[in-house]
Amino acid sequence: MAAIKCIGILTSGGDAPGMNAAIRAVTRSAIFSGFKVKGIYRGFKGLITDEIVEFKTQNVSNIIQLGGTILKTARCKEFETSEGRQLAFDVLRREEIDALVVIGGDGSLTGARIFATEFNLPIVGLPGTIDNDLYGTDTTIGYDTALNTIMECVDKIRDTATSHERLFFIEVMGRDAGFLALNGAIATGAEAAIIPEISTEVDQLEELIKSGFRKSKNSSIVLVAESPITGGALALSERVKNEYPQYDVRVSILGHLQRGGSPTAHDRILASRMGAAAVDALLEDQRNVMIGIANDEIVYVPFSKAIKNDKPINRDLLNTLRRLSI
Ligand code: ATP
Repeated sequence: MAAIKCIGILTSGGDAPGMNAAIRAVTRSAIFSGFKVKGIYRGFKGLITDEIVEFKTQNVSNIIQLGGTILKTARCKEFETSEGRQLAFDVLRREEIDALVVIGGDGSLTGARIFATEFNLPIVGLPGTIDNDLYGTDTTIGYDTALNTIMECVDKIRDTATSHERLFFIEVMGRDAGFLALNGAIATGAEAAIIPEISTEVDQLEELIKSGFRKSKNSSIVLVAESPITGGALALSERVKNEYPQYDVRVSILGHLQRGGSPTAHDRILASRMGAAAVDALLEDQRNVMIGIANDEIVYVPFSKAIKNDKPINRDLLNTLRRLSI
């Protein structure tokens, strides 16, 4: 393999707090190791349309504390076709970029894997998603910040829920993964979390009602992962209104505010470590791997494992929530 001289960085898919800290870490570590760095704007879309700028250390000054991504992000259907990826590869050659660091979620790393295999390109991925749904890493960049945002919001909703003695269904992000809902519920002392991972095993709402929630309380809070499998907070609230009209039910959908905000110290440190590790991985001739963290150690996770495997939830957390919400 020809020696790598220039590394391209892009952020793709949903934005996550800490992506900027990761861009900074990749840029600075790469320059420290003697590489040239190029920032690719708007994810795979900008790779196809050649929205690429050389990055010096000062391009990433003063960004570690910023939410979102200075490189912008996008979703790109064209990259899902072999013609689109050929265009992207032609741009890489023209820009003399020899390796890529892709920061994004499941979809972005799937695209990265296909691209790397098709063109025999060294690509390293960083798990940038608030959902924490990538296998092989204990946590992802942005997850801790989103969890803290959820905690602050739910604490505020609890004030009004208690005053009016209401039952609140609060919908949080998570698509196919209940990490935000489950840990958000524990962190806020909520009564329950309705998550996709156990939806086929138990009727979580029925279980909640049967266990007699609100027995000794003057308000109840249930966190719901926004997933077609759980049905979402609105559908669950309708069911309760029909079946248990005695409850004064309200819904709050936290939505996009969960993606924003300055990253927590945890996410800044995680992104900094992972960004530096991405450059180490390229120096070690690694390719087609995602940087992960396991037991506080950096690990390399093959894309095939990170993407294909479902990350299991920790059942102990479910039991803890059940025990603490009596
Ligand atoms: P999040 O989890 O935060 O939504 P994500 O990275 O999973 O982020 P997606 O919208 O699923 O976000 O994917 C982002 C982009 O990755 C897509 O717009 C597309 O350009 C690329 N991508 C996804 N799947 C594929 C695929 N099968 N082949 C090629 N490219 C893909």
